[in-house]
Amino acid sequence: MIIQPSTRLVTIGSSDAFNHGGRANSCFWVEDHLGVYLIDCGPTTPISLQNLSVSRGLSIPKIDVIYLTHLHGDHIAGLPVLLLELTFGQQRERPLLIAGPTGTEERIRALCDCTYPSMLKELLSFQLLFKEWPLQGTGTYAQRTVQSIPALHDPHASPTSIKISSQSHSLVFSGDTGWNEKLVELSADTDALIIECSFQDHIFDGHISLAEIEKYRSTLTSKRLILTHFGERSRAAAVEKQALLKLEVADDGVVWNI
Ligand SMILES: [Zn+2]
Repeated sequence: MIIQPSTRLVTIGSSDAFNHGGRANSCFWVEDHLGVYLIDCGPTTPISLQNLSVSRGLSIPKIDVIYLTHLHGDHIAGLPVLLLELTFGQQRERPLLIAGPTGTEERIRALCDCTYPSMLKELLSFQLLFKEWPLQGTGTYAQRTVQSIPALHDPHASPTSIKISSQSHSLVFSGDTGWNEKLVELSADTDALIIECSFQDHIFDGHISLAEIEKYRSTLTSKRLILTHFGERSRAAAVEKQALLKLEVADDGVVWNI
């Protein structure tokens, strides 16, 4: 029998773009047999990592790669400060990979140049590497397989939903998206689908509502269904229905062993 190595998934931030409910912006910390990676890096990520590092045993220098689902501020704007922390706080020397959809390198370089103009030219103590995936495709990024599909969201943000697979796990992150039948296929029989739930009812085409998750719940076959990217109302409604819909509700600092 093959024993699958374990994976630790830590919720760093579970709010929507606006920190509703006083929660932090999108970011997950994932530890598998290859090391540590982040999914997304919202503006609150640096302070949340500091706050959770002792209580959740997070060692910031261990981050090897940051995978980005798309290029909106609430998913990338923590990067400049985190990169500076790795330089000045952690004296990092190992390279760091940022992997994301088409346009990632140009957008992240622009973000860094606009916030700390000297950073990429002379400040960083380590090599910053970039890799990009197409909106639709499958490739290997830091020894993990990433399958991307186009998400139904602002096209200027290169939105993708991604499945990350390694010997340790198969995890699907919806990123920000409207309800998408392709996400059902992508997440079929995976260890977990981490899905956004910005609204209680469908009021915006570019985000998923709890009402849609409830409507299509029976089609989702991942072993765990974890909701995140909450507004206040959608989170309260999800807590109320979590037993009925067999789902789990993310909160800042919550840890799952996959
Ligand atoms: Zn978002």
